[in-house]
Parts: sequence; C-alpha cells; structure tokens
Amino acid sequence: MRPLVRPLDAPPLMRADLHVHSSASDGTDPPAEVMRRAARAGLDVVALTDHDTVAGHAEAAAAAGPVTLLPGMELSCRLDGRSLHLLAYVFDPDQPDLAAELTRIRDDRVLRARAMVDRLAGLGVDVSWEQVAAIAGQAVVGRPHIARAMADSGAIGSPREAFTRDWIADGGRAYVGRYALDPVRAIGLVRAAGGVTVLAHPRAGSEGGRGGGWGVTDEQITGLAAAGLAGLEVFHPDQSDAERARLLALAHDLGLVATGGSDDHGSLTDYRLGCETTSAGAYHDLLSRAPGNPA
Ligand SMILES: [Zn+2]
Ligand SMILES: [Zn+2]
Repeated sequence: MRPLVRPLDAPPLMRADLHVHSSASDGTDPPAEVMRRAARAGLDVVALTDHDTVAGHAEAAAAAGPVTLLPGMELSCRLDGRSLHLLAYVFDPDQPDLAAELTRIRDDRVLRARAMVDRLAGLGVDVSWEQVAAIAGQAVVGRPHIARAMADSGAIGSPREAFTRDWIADGGRAYVGRYALDPVRAIGLVRAAGGVTVLAHPRAGSEGGRGGGWGVTDEQITGLAAAGLAGLEVFHPDQSDAERARLLALAHDLGLVATGGSDDHGSLTDYRLGCETTSAGAYHDLLSRAPGNPA
C-alpha cells in the first residue's frame, strides 16, 4: 500500500472515507452493500458520493449499522472547457435551485448515453440503448454501463477496455460531451443549500478514464477557494505522493480542508473502500464550514 502523507496532528482513531460510489450511480454495489463493506473495513464514517444524485442515501442510511453515513454527492462540472468534479456534503437536496440543476444534469446523461450508443453503432459495435438502460437499471446512466454492454456484446474483452481513445474515453471516437455545471455556480448552489464542497481529485492521473481527472491549476483552485470552496481532496488513490505534498501546501496556503477518500466503485475499482481516509480533525473542520450545520 502507498505510504500516506499525513498532517502531524491527525488523530489515528477515526477512519472516514469521504468519497464512495454505489449502484445509484456507476458503482457496482447497492448502497446497503456499500455500508456493510464499510463496517467490515472498520470505517467509522462513509460519505456516499454518487454522481449527480442522492438516490442511494435512504437505502444506505437504513443499512448504516455502526457506520456513520455522511450524505454527499459528486457534481459534474466544467471549467475552462474541461471536466471537473466537486464533492458536496450535508446540503439539502430539495433546495429548489440545486434540485433543478440535478434534474437537468441527469436528463442530459440519458441524451448523452443514447448519443454514444449511436456512435458505437456507427463504428460497428452491436450495442442497443435498451441493453444499456437495462444494465443501468435505477442508476444514473453513465459510461460504465455502456462499457459493460460493449463487453457483453463481445466488442471488447472487459469493460475497462472501453475507456480508451478507440471507444468512450474523453475525446474517444464514440465519446459525447455533456452538460455540466460551472463550478463557481455549483459551489454557490451547495452553500445556498446549507452544504460544503471539496474539489475532487484535482491532480489525478490523466489516463482518460471516467473523466474529471486532470491537472486543475493552482490559479484555478485559488479562484474556487475565493468562491467558497471548503476543501481539497488530497488523499486519492490516483494522486502521487508528490502531488499530495503540493496539494497539502496549497490547501494550507488557501485555508482549505485536506480530505481523503477511496473513490471506490465496487468491482470496477477492485473494492478499495477505506484505502484513503480523512483525518478526524479535517472531518470536523469540514463540517464546521457548512452554513446549514454550524458546529
Ligand atoms: Zn470524480
Ligand atoms: Zn468519484
């Protein structure tokens, strides 16, 4: 396991994974199973952060057991023409402006997935929209569902092979872009709904996988901090120790909370729940910044 760069004051007795997906978006496990795995992994806190939806929260809360569920979401944003992900926590999902944006994002996901299926058909891949919709089920449809349909059809050997420039990676032959929020607006919407935002994996490897992993610049992060961003996701499996050190220094300079999370997607990411965590001090600092949750 990768050695972790940790703040010296991090209390060792609390384990909080603040970035986890379920089958409510593109993870492979239902929310209840995610919470059972969290208990087995010895986690104290898990944030369920499915893409652009809170649909998994009720099931996860009912199955939380000894684990504290932190309600969250990973918002799809675009800054200067590139994908960027914002983790949002403890907001009111029924706040009208935020709810309207979430509906718009999810509706667009369907249009976009259909467009990618059409492009794949044009490339000779025998995958139908009905197959993709059946695989997604109640989940927010996304590229992993298309990847699974491609593997089922025999076009590729495994779903991972879909995430290349030949197929549906960012900029790939069958890739279609989509509607995404301006992150400054997203930060404001979440704050207005009583919540806090953390910039997800700002320096994750740029292998062109599920998107959102690219080098957000120091200047861009400084701008987001001025707009009310509360934290930076420093501890993420796809960020090198060198990037973690740089991000920790930047978080310190800008007064941002340094968080961590596994970005677990079930079998899609080899069940890595709890492989990265947030310190107890950072966790409480983050929650204390929520306008709707004064500590
Ligand atoms: Zn992400
Ligand atoms: Zn994620």
